[in-house]
Amino acid sequence: MTAVRHGHDTSAPSRANGVAAAVTDLTKVYGDGDTRVLALDRVTMAFREGEFTAIMGPSGCGKSTLMHCAAGLDTFDSGSVRIGTTELGKLTDRQLTQLRRDRIGFIFQAFNLLPTLTALENITLPMDIAGRKPDRRWLERVVAMVGLADRLNHRPAQLSGGQQQRVAVARALASRPAIVFGDEPTGNLDSRAGAEVLGFLRDSVRELGQTVVMVTHDPVAAGYADRVVFLADGRQVDEMTGPTPQRVMDRMKALDTQATGVHARTR
Ligand code: ADP
Ligand code: MG
Repeated sequence: MTAVRHGHDTSAPSRANGVAAAVTDLTKVYGDGDTRVLALDRVTMAFREGEFTAIMGPSGCGKSTLMHCAAGLDTFDSGSVRIGTTELGKLTDRQLTQLRRDRIGFIFQAFNLLPTLTALENITLPMDIAGRKPDRRWLERVVAMVGLADRLNHRPAQLSGGQQQRVAVARALASRPAIVFGDEPTGNLDSRAGAEVLGFLRDSVRELGQTVVMVTHDPVAAGYADRVVFLADGRQVDEMTGPTPQRVMDRMKALDTQATGVHARTR
């Protein structure tokens, strides 16, 4: 294996027309027979570089499944997922693991930090496992941005929920990934800590050019994004650019009315 120096991954494919990631005709089925669930039904969407997208929709509509498939954390039944120019379906398990580690950041609702490691050790863990040296200046920027400079030697138990999620945000950004996915990253935080984390995610897009995709059910959280994609029953049903909490709430109501007005759908 060739060593990667100075944090630059020379194996990373070149840009794909400003698209950081894309899913095409993505279909995911859970179970079979009576328990068969069509979680994603030919979903097609692209995430542009430097764009902050929120994914919304009723519980069970496939948001988490979409995140997990797009991030290479779960398999899918048909269609394709691209990160940059790399097709996930064509990778071996080992290549997929490597791509996930090097080019994708993930923030979960539960912070998923290792309790025995300090904040800094948690942030650099994925790179340490990969044997990659963090880009110090980048790391300092990320740590400063999320306001953790004076908490780096604390362990998760010594940090508030909001601070722990800031560690998780820094961990996701540390390797300078092509894209960061968040599945309800503010779901376990009070509104103030949530607003901080959302502000940092937005800053990572504005100041660092990061691409971010976030699942949320909160119109206020969606208001931080550049664009909102609405899912229902495993399909994209709407899209909004320049969302405000009020516009998002109005659209959710309208979609809800539409959905309840429709008779049992056949697939
Ligand atoms: P959301 O995140 O929007 O709430 P999910 O992506 O978690 O929705 O789930 C989409 C659909 O797939 C739901 O009907 C859910 O019950 C089903 N589902 C999710 N995960 C599994 C699983 N591991 N096994 C079986 N069904 C699942
Ligand atoms: Mg979910």
